[in-house]
Amino acid sequence: MSSLLGNLFILAAPSGAGKSSLIKALMEKYKGSDSYPMQVSVSHTTRQPRPGEVDGEHYHFVSRAQFEALIEQGVFFEWAEVFGNYYGTSRVTIEQTLHRGIDVFLDIDWQGARQVKTLMPDTCGVFILPPSIDVLEQRLNSRGQDSEEVIAGRMKKAVDEMSHFSEFDHVIINDDFATALHDLEAIVIAQRLRTQKQQMRYQTLLDELLGTA
Ligand code: 5GP
Repeated sequence: MSSLLGNLFILAAPSGAGKSSLIKALMEKYKGSDSYPMQVSVSHTTRQPRPGEVDGEHYHFVSRAQFEALIEQGVFFEWAEVFGNYYGTSRVTIEQTLHRGIDVFLDIDWQGARQVKTLMPDTCGVFILPPSIDVLEQRLNSRGQDSEEVIAGRMKKAVDEMSHFSEFDHVIINDDFATALHDLEAIVIAQRLRTQKQQMRYQTLLDELLGTA
């Protein structure tokens, strides 16, 4: 897979770190860009759609039986059970997109991240953290309507996810949104400019410059 022109990125974070907003802003900024083509992988999941979520856009929503059949068929590049639901990334879609030179972003948990790093070691892993425990708690209780028990449960899940931050290549603290977005862009662009990929992209130019054509 390292011969693929596009770069694979993993973005992981606890719920409440602002990961979805960062990915959305990144995609909007680079929409239609020829220099930095990128897209987010749409996962399969067995969880129920939330209000406003569209099948095929936010997730491919499937039943447990359908998901298990897809596992059997070897459809997934990685999959994991997260908070009682299955989530997985389709192998073919990722490979085809990377092959076309488009960078692909996986919004997945630490379990999926481990599998992807093993299968494709040059994947770039980014972990997003909130700026403080207070801010995290506020973000996890943004509606202000949940019981203390529900919030404590969400906090526990967030701390579990955060405990895996050191398995990632980069860490972004999402305090000021514009700065965090800038940080993410810097990582993406640096990854894109790595010598091996530039060599693949610019072989003709390099041959011309070095007289090796
Ligand atoms: P949510 O249900 O809130 O959309 O996602 C719950 C968790 O599942 C998040 O941490 C998200 O990153 C993770 N997730 C979403 N899609 C995938 C996937 O395809 N594989 C894995 N391993 N985790 C995923």
